[in-house]
Amino acid sequence: MSASQNGWSAGPGMILRPLVVGGIAFVPGIRHDDDVHTVLGYVADQFHTRVEPLRNPGCWGYAFRENRNDPNALSNHASGTAIDCNAPAHPNGVPTNRTFTPKQVAEVHKILAEVDHTVRWGGDYTGTPDAMHFEIDTTPARLAAVADRIRNQEDDMFTDEDRADLKATRKVTERTREGSFKRDKAILAGLDEIAETSTKTARKSQVAALKKLFEDES
Ligand SMILES: [Zn+2]
Repeated sequence: MSASQNGWSAGPGMILRPLVVGGIAFVPGIRHDDDVHTVLGYVADQFHTRVEPLRNPGCWGYAFRENRNDPNALSNHASGTAIDCNAPAHPNGVPTNRTFTPKQVAEVHKILAEVDHTVRWGGDYTGTPDAMHFEIDTTPARLAAVADRIRNQEDDMFTDEDRADLKATRKVTERTREGSFKRDKAILAGLDEIAETSTKTARKSQVAALKKLFEDES
């Protein structure tokens, strides 16, 4: 198997994993790798919320092809470690500052700093700019560390408010359960009364069967 420009293994017909951000799919998917998915997913998600909403069509992932700006190397799309965001709005070769405002450029740089620059932006290329393009630019080991941190960060985003909500929901559930238990007991008590006032053996056995049914349920 050969490697793409960033050193990640590349080949035709790779096994892919879907990447969907803000309801927009990166077609046809990206590398089947948790860390690549976490980090590229983070960048795409932040791009979508902080820079520019993702649009369809125009978000691309895996493609087995050479690098458009260096025909001697395989594109990082060929290893499933690169994505294009809103391709028609930011064509390859068009200077970055023509399709992004300085504020947007600054925001992209902030996002890349948040992933410890394990992702490189085509908008920063010193040669031909490719502002739609983001690619993994590190080793699997270093990427794993950053991906771990992002996943933990996402756990931290489970706020105290969320925890309070969960606690309240649990309380309601418990109360409902207690309530239905009480109701069952009331029914049983009612049945006891029927059983005691009834003189007919048939009714007594019927009541006993009903009681057993309720007892089995609780
Ligand atoms: Zn690209």
